[in-house]
Amino acid sequence: FTCDLIRNFSIIAHIDHGKSTLADRLLELTGTIKKKEVGKNEQVLDKLKVERERGITVKAQTASMMHTFNGKPHVLNLIDTPGHVDFAWEVSRSLAACQGALLLVDASQGVQAQTISVFHIAQERGLKIIPVLNKIDLPAAQPERIAAQMQATFGTDPADIIHISAKTGKGVEDVLQAIIDRIPPPSGAPTAPLKAFLFDSLYDRYRGVISLVAVQDGILKKGDRVASCHTNKKYEVQEIGIMHPEEIPVNGLYPGQVGYIACNMKESSEAHIGDTLYRVGTAVDPMPGFKPAQAMVYAGIFPVETSDFPKLEESIKRLALTDRSVTVQRESSTALGQGNRLGFLGTLHMDVFRQRLEDEHDANIIVTAPTVPYKIVYKDKEVYVSNPTEFPDAVDAASKVKEIQEPIVKASIIVPEEYFGDMMDLCFTHRAEDLDHRYLDAGTGTSSSRIILTCTIPLSEIVTDFFDQLKSRSSGFASFDYEEAGYKASDLVKIVFLLNAKPVDALALIVHRSHEDAIGKEWVKKLVKVIPRQMFEVPIQAAVGKKIIARETLKAYRADVTAGLYGGHVERKMKVLERQKEGKARMKRMGSVNLPQEAFFEIMSSK
Ligand code: GDP
Ligand code: MG
Repeated sequence: FTCDLIRNFSIIAHIDHGKSTLADRLLELTGTIKKKEVGKNEQVLDKLKVERERGITVKAQTASMMHTFNGKPHVLNLIDTPGHVDFAWEVSRSLAACQGALLLVDASQGVQAQTISVFHIAQERGLKIIPVLNKIDLPAAQPERIAAQMQATFGTDPADIIHISAKTGKGVEDVLQAIIDRIPPPSGAPTAPLKAFLFDSLYDRYRGVISLVAVQDGILKKGDRVASCHTNKKYEVQEIGIMHPEEIPVNGLYPGQVGYIACNMKESSEAHIGDTLYRVGTAVDPMPGFKPAQAMVYAGIFPVETSDFPKLEESIKRLALTDRSVTVQRESSTALGQGNRLGFLGTLHMDVFRQRLEDEHDANIIVTAPTVPYKIVYKDKEVYVSNPTEFPDAVDAASKVKEIQEPIVKASIIVPEEYFGDMMDLCFTHRAEDLDHRYLDAGTGTSSSRIILTCTIPLSEIVTDFFDQLKSRSSGFASFDYEEAGYKASDLVKIVFLLNAKPVDALALIVHRSHEDAIGKEWVKKLVKVIPRQMFEVPIQAAVGKKIIARETLKAYRADVTAGLYGGHVERKMKVLERQKEGKARMKRMGSVNLPQEAFFEIMSSK
């Protein structure tokens, strides 16, 4: 055995530039999977239903391919990475097990925001980067122009760029050859003390936690006694294998190899991402780990039917075991009963989690408005608050709050020049600062030049409608990426909504003072539409502290509740009637006003 015959690599790209398609072609070319008809994309590595539906990769998957070069059998380990800004953490940990990366760029779209961010992650990790231009079969492809753009942006030599069509398979052989020729084999010594890097974990109902590891030194065998540098806990390796992409048991993993082990870990928290495993009785220095994933967006998740809570919580826990970046806490609300407060890496991450709860666990849930983690500065301490109910009513001597800070991100937007004005406007209306821009193409001022716009912007501004507006106001051409940039003092207020003068805790929102009027009015208008009429008139108010900032009046009940409520909106009406039939419409008494869970559902799912 020798490391020389192993290559560990990843495919990195902006979303939709063709990672999964290229992965499929590579798996086919190496005979790992059967060849499919051209144009049929089953995307073997995208295992989750939500990934197939949305065409995004959420969880990094690995596959080992065998391929013979110059008469020698090589092992190529492909570690797939997610392509969305929310999952940058997953990208960075997948890359930790690699020596090289294919940087894939769509030849019709060119360099996009995530192309730049994944390039930087790969470069920081010291990986050999192979530039690949994909989709050259498209009539709109402009390979020369995009090659020049890559040269200007990354310093790529156009001669190094491989031109391919992952769809038709053209040029994919050259990619395989380049993986062998250009990516260095892993360095590691079979005779040195065992060192295995733990970079991911899965949860299996029968075997417990399955860890994905990259062996650095030594040989990892079934029956070995290993220990964790992080927890010092000891385990016996029960099962060991490679991901082919399906699990295939093997006798041992050699230096540079990537595979899975099952070793009777009961809790997924025992599989610490970034941990180093070593053989019991030896001493090793742990490899550099990762900083833990930081939740950026929090929301409460409640069952539509309160009695479903135990089942829902069980489903949430199960799902969280397969997604290590989600944080889970208990939460209870007067309006919605028992629930959980979850932390996510971003709003897409939150959406994906919600969809998986619904798809895979058949859950019927209400998700509250997303909140970012705010920092409340007291005289003697700082407290992070990610639930509006815990947010102080005011910054003053009485509450002892000195200052409130909010998380800020450094954002970059790449957009064709003609949309530049719209993007500037979008940034301004979302409290952006430090705006700056430059041309992405080498020659500036040509008709279809692209501009990269950078700014700092409060995270709370981008967790709501920012992304949708970015897409619609740029006809889908803008791409967007961001990284954390610390905290900053800000004038934030808590809006509380009152039904018949009684506050509804689950509806509270934290907003910047400049947005309070608009948001207060908008929500009050939404509420008046979804709350059933009562026998008496009900005031619906939005308040900041003692000040009422918006008000609507729900007229008294007349005849048909559903008609008055949902107007002519047939689909919604059907949904509500159907739920009622299923016996799922449970009324919650809020003071003297009946507030159905459906009203929450409606308001939380409307944009
Ligand atoms: P990912 O998000 O990077 O994994 O991208 P996918 O592999 O899911 O591809 C995104 C879309 O581009 C899919 O509709 C693919 O069929 C399409 N696609 C990928 N590669 C090519 C290509 O070489 N040519 C063309 N015409 N379409 C491609
Ligand atoms: Mg994909």
